[in-house]
Amino acid sequence: MKIYKFGGTSVGKPERMKSIAQLIDGEDNKVVVLSALSGVTNALVRICEASQQKSPKTAAEEIDALKKHHLNFIEELYNNPESLKKAFEYIDKQFALVSTLSLSEKFGDKEEKIILAQGELLSTFIFYTYLEEIGLSAALISALDFMKINAQEEPVLKYIEHNLMEALGRNPGKKLYITQGYICRNAIGDIDNLKRGGSDYTASLLGAALRAEEIQIWTDIDGMHNNDPRFVEGTFSIAELSFDEAAELAYFGAKILHPATIHPAKQYNIPVKLLNTMKPEARGTTICNSNDSHGSIKSIAAKDGIIAIKIKSSRMLMAYGFLRRVFEVFEKYKTPIDMITTSEVAVSLTIDNLIHLDEIVMELQDFGTVEVDKDMSIVCVVGDFVSEKQDMSFKVFDALKKIPIRMISFGGSRHNISLLISTPYKKEALNLLNERLF
Ligand code: ASP
Ligand code: MG
Repeated sequence: MKIYKFGGTSVGKPERMKSIAQLIDGEDNKVVVLSALSGVTNALVRICEASQQKSPKTAAEEIDALKKHHLNFIEELYNNPESLKKAFEYIDKQFALVSTLSLSEKFGDKEEKIILAQGELLSTFIFYTYLEEIGLSAALISALDFMKINAQEEPVLKYIEHNLMEALGRNPGKKLYITQGYICRNAIGDIDNLKRGGSDYTASLLGAALRAEEIQIWTDIDGMHNNDPRFVEGTFSIAELSFDEAAELAYFGAKILHPATIHPAKQYNIPVKLLNTMKPEARGTTICNSNDSHGSIKSIAAKDGIIAIKIKSSRMLMAYGFLRRVFEVFEKYKTPIDMITTSEVAVSLTIDNLIHLDEIVMELQDFGTVEVDKDMSIVCVVGDFVSEKQDMSFKVFDALKKIPIRMISFGGSRHNISLLISTPYKKEALNLLNERLF
């Protein structure tokens, strides 16, 4: 069994959807996971915001526009009046539900989650109906029957395995199954989701549940690049990455893959391929437990919007328990820490979430003097640093000798060196590293 996942842009236009139908027409058994049509989840979020704010007019306008978008889509997609009628009725019914929920007196979390689920329900129904029209035998299985998270919002793999097998079993003789990304049920059985971008995560969880041969993530670029193509010319896609290297990169702005995707695939050693629907023949990037990738620099990536916080305190000298108390402040405000460096009398760390910055700084002032630097970027170099030639870290620092560096993190894992710099220097830093390392 193979898992194929297509993102919003890959199903965003009727002609793209048609080319996907060709792509999946083959010998292998497949589960195909789809996102909502591109832009649809954003529109559903806006509908929920308007409903929350009791702005029925705005909500109704958004609902109307989104319904029209789907109706135009199916009109262009189908040849057969039967398909058109069937999809029309489904779209009509789902949007009637969205309107009712949107106007609900006690609009809350539950209503919101049902509305957010509609994008994937619609895209899969539309696609499945198209496959029927062209005579490609498939089964539409509902992710709401098998995708589940617990009270901690973690997926329940055993439940997924069991219920997915049942869902497949209800459709004997099929080789092709279509299902929704992103959506699931929560601990109390209500409709929920795996958070924005979560369709990749669905694909990887299904891959793990089925011990699939391979997970293919289809987007509109040809895999992960060795540097950021928005700032550096002549980047190229990386042929192979280890799971650990991919996990480092997925966090650093490489939007192409949801960071949580790596874990389930790694657990069962299932290769993840990143492929391009616009160029299906391109090799893309394969993420696997390869052993021939030792000793090379794979990629450079950067993440903006970073805030550095420095706490200076002589009380830290020779003390134990100091870092714990610092970390507890961040825990209290549910703010993850990314980079951290320490000296005997100071600790610097970074966060990328501003929401509770003022409260955090206030509480940290109990420990010593606190300095905050905003508009910082983390530049990270990913590769295999242990077996790399000794001069690798020298090359990194030598390349950046003209760039003021605020923090350095090296040795946390063998796969990366992270450097914190002021964002205006980012482009220059990425280019200098590119020249020196590749
Ligand atoms: N449709 C959802 C989103 O836009 C999930 C996904 O596409 O991965 O976030
Ligand atoms: Mg995505």
